[in-house]
Amino acid sequence: MPDLIEKAAKQISEAKSVVALTGAGISVESGIPPFRGKGGLWEKIDPMSVAHIDALKKDPEMVWRVLIKSMKLVLDEARPNAGHIGLAELEKLGILQTVITQNVDGLHQMAGNSDVIEFHGTFAWQRCMECNQSIETSQVDMTTIPPQCACGGILRPDAVFFGEMIPAEELMRSQKASANCDIMIVIGTSAMVEPAASMPFVAKNNNAVIIEINPEPTQLTTRISDLSLMGSAGSIMPRLVKAVQKRLEPL
Ligand code: NAD
Ligand code: ZN
Repeated sequence: MPDLIEKAAKQISEAKSVVALTGAGISVESGIPPFRGKGGLWEKIDPMSVAHIDALKKDPEMVWRVLIKSMKLVLDEARPNAGHIGLAELEKLGILQTVITQNVDGLHQMAGNSDVIEFHGTFAWQRCMECNQSIETSQVDMTTIPPQCACGGILRPDAVFFGEMIPAEELMRSQKASANCDIMIVIGTSAMVEPAASMPFVAKNNNAVIIEINPEPTQLTTRISDLSLMGSAGSIMPRLVKAVQKRLEPL
């Protein structure tokens, strides 16, 4: 592993444009359970019955009780971990340009990254399903579930549910960033959810090197990853950043 981290650090420190693609795994060490994988939420509930737009439309009270309310309680407490902080440090070093994230938790921004594409929207805001008015999640009164807008409509997170389209601008910007980078660091994503899962392929087709950080192999590992750093984001990232910093220091 030290060899692989050195190899990755060498490539990262020599790159012109580095982009990161992150998934739920990078936030696991911040106390946010992923959907898939060990300890994932989906061991307990069926995603299609709660995280699908049809479920939200049909039974918003159930979706609020089973998914949204518990997510709010978890996200209220969550803070960036060493994985997020490592990506913010790579930006400060002038190396990392953009983070494309599938997460809705806002932790990349909290860690200090300035160009974050929120592919699946954000949990920080709710919008009314009737009049489209937005309200910050922290301001939502949860004494009645589902919470309502002043107009009487029901509030929903400004996040993308299964069965919904990715916002066009985020999709376009992600494709552009993926096509133009020479390294993509893929952290904590099983790369099963499309179209986010296609971004590493867009990068690879444009000759980018793919560096993967994940404790478990994914469908990218044998197919397109050039370097696979097997471990948690919180343990690998600080070592990787340190190795990059060392290479950038004048001798
Ligand atoms: P996913 O498909 O990205 O799978 C999680 C991946 O993270 C797995 O490959 C797992 O091996 C890896 N992982 C686990 N612990 C890790 C660690 N400590 N460090 C690095 N990698 C680790 O994500 P999912 O959970 O299936 O979620 C699907 C979608 O649901 C996301 O794309 C997102 O939109 C939403 N979601 C968001 C959050 C969040 O905002 N934090 C949390 C859960 C789900
Ligand atoms: Zn309204």
